[in-house]
Amino acid sequence: MTPANHDAIPERILLGPGPSLADPRVLRVMSQPMIGYLDPAYLDIMNEVARNLRDTLQTKNAATFPVQGTGFSGMDSCFGTLIEPGDKVIIAVLGFFGIRMCEMAERYGANVVRLDQEWGKAFEPETIGEALKANPDAKFLAIIHAETSTGVLQPLQEIGALCREHGVLFLVDAVTSVGGVELAVDDWGIDICYSGSQKCLGVPPGLAPVTINDRALGVVAERATPPASYYLDLSLIKEYWGEAHVYHHTGPMAMVYAMQEALRIIMEEGLEARWARHALNGSALRAGLEALGLVLHAEAGCRLPSLTTVRVPEGVDDAALRGRLLNEFNLEIGGGLGPLKGNTWRIGMMGYASKRSNVLYLLSVLETLLTEAGLRPARPGAGMAAAQEVYLQSAEAQN
Ligand SMILES: *Cc1c(COP(=O)(O)O)cnc(C)c1O
Repeated sequence: MTPANHDAIPERILLGPGPSLADPRVLRVMSQPMIGYLDPAYLDIMNEVARNLRDTLQTKNAATFPVQGTGFSGMDSCFGTLIEPGDKVIIAVLGFFGIRMCEMAERYGANVVRLDQEWGKAFEPETIGEALKANPDAKFLAIIHAETSTGVLQPLQEIGALCREHGVLFLVDAVTSVGGVELAVDDWGIDICYSGSQKCLGVPPGLAPVTINDRALGVVAERATPPASYYLDLSLIKEYWGEAHVYHHTGPMAMVYAMQEALRIIMEEGLEARWARHALNGSALRAGLEALGLVLHAEAGCRLPSLTTVRVPEGVDDAALRGRLLNEFNLEIGGGLGPLKGNTWRIGMMGYASKRSNVLYLLSVLETLLTEAGLRPARPGAGMAAAQEVYLQSAEAQN
């Protein structure tokens, strides 16, 4: 279906694995005038974006900026800037995005030591510790903080400490965590980290915030050959975002205006309040889904607030139900990836979209469609009632 004009683009409620909804404030600033990429007014915006990104990522790293491109440009720039052909790297895979890391590392000629965890569980630090002990010559260890394919939140703090102990750099994909779940780059010993604009930050797809510390930049400086990609070479991009503002590419200003506004919104809300909002809506959603008789996929104890995985119940047609959600109710949720394709739904509650009205609306529509498919809950309204209970208890706890 190709819309004949822009008015024909439907207004969806995006509760999938991304993109998420952007705050109308963010969309409005994107229509501001174009200016030159070295205009003093633009440089002021860049400086503010870098400053607020440091606060959001909880880092003092000077080299903190959004890389031009979607989340994978963050992955590509970090891997490409660090890896030289023949380098050994350890990649801890807990789902689809970890596999993508392995594929990317291999393209750059890395010798990948791959660790695998069952899809739906997090790694125990002991497993990572053993791999580090067996491979102290690895250049870095990479892991996904929030695995969007499985709905797992991987604890990082102990892994960061282990990497330090073994003198191996720690590289983290925080695409679905930044702005929705606590992440403390400096305190957790993370040396390089990238994210994406369209998940919990609530910006349209097109930017990948990256931070890299001096330790990792020191390793980059010792490369025998420059990175294969000029466009995604972090040591060059950082000179454009740094004080000297050395031309490297044309700043994608509409995207950077959007990032500026989204980061202002985050600073206004406060990081902790934002994490608490994501946690609350995540737990209300999970309670509601379980009350509808559905089974959550990710293991209890490591469930990601910003993305919930739930099994498609027996007898329900995955694609048909998601099609009805979209076409009749304007609701987008995601299907499964890899081994979870066809049997798991991925429900995002990210950024601007993470709110009570969306949780309750989705639960009520899901109940309607599941009832029509013959899966009537024990009590009408069971999903919404369970979610309401979570909100009530949270409100009471605050009083
Ligand atoms: C979405 C996502 C990416 C990729 O981002 P794109 O914007 O699609 O390029 C990478 N890693 C994780 C964990 C993601 O959820």
